[in-house]
Amino acid sequence: MNDESKTDASFSVGFLVCGCGRWMHTQGIAEQPGLGDDHWLVRSECCGCRWRVGLEVGAADAHPFIDRLMWTDEARHLLDRMPPYVQVLLRPSVDDYARAKGARVVTMGLLGEARRGGSVRWDAEADARLSRVPASVRAMAKAELEKTALERGHEAVTVALMEELKARYFGMAGKP
Ligand SMILES: [Zn+2]
Repeated sequence: MNDESKTDASFSVGFLVCGCGRWMHTQGIAEQPGLGDDHWLVRSECCGCRWRVGLEVGAADAHPFIDRLMWTDEARHLLDRMPPYVQVLLRPSVDDYARAKGARVVTMGLLGEARRGGSVRWDAEADARLSRVPASVRAMAKAELEKTALERGHEAVTVALMEELKARYFGMAGKP
């Protein structure tokens, strides 16, 4: 019997090992809005045999399964849509912001926070309306609304602001 892989007992937390004995490396993370803001699908792949697994996990328990600073698919998609010169400036500053907070994952929420350099509150009415926005676009709409509110020096996201930006963000799906 070969016990070589077990000889290092210095790890106190779990980490993901493939059935072939090699470490699994994190390939991507998807936010799971249906399960709440802090649930992710973490995708890992074995670099030896290419075995792939997905792990649905709460943010609080996810760190052992994420081997480096990662952006979620959603946050990366948002970054990809920005002009290249913005990406070049924004990416390292968001990475720094995440590291300073001890975060290993850049989510839509963290990206928004880093870009705003602050927080903004939501009117009760606006908050209720946001909850009726389809989950697939909610995180993006939320981030853009908060960013716009802060850029304009507003303290809160209001229904009036949502109405104004509605065509831009909520009408997307209906247009060719
Ligand atoms: Zn393997």
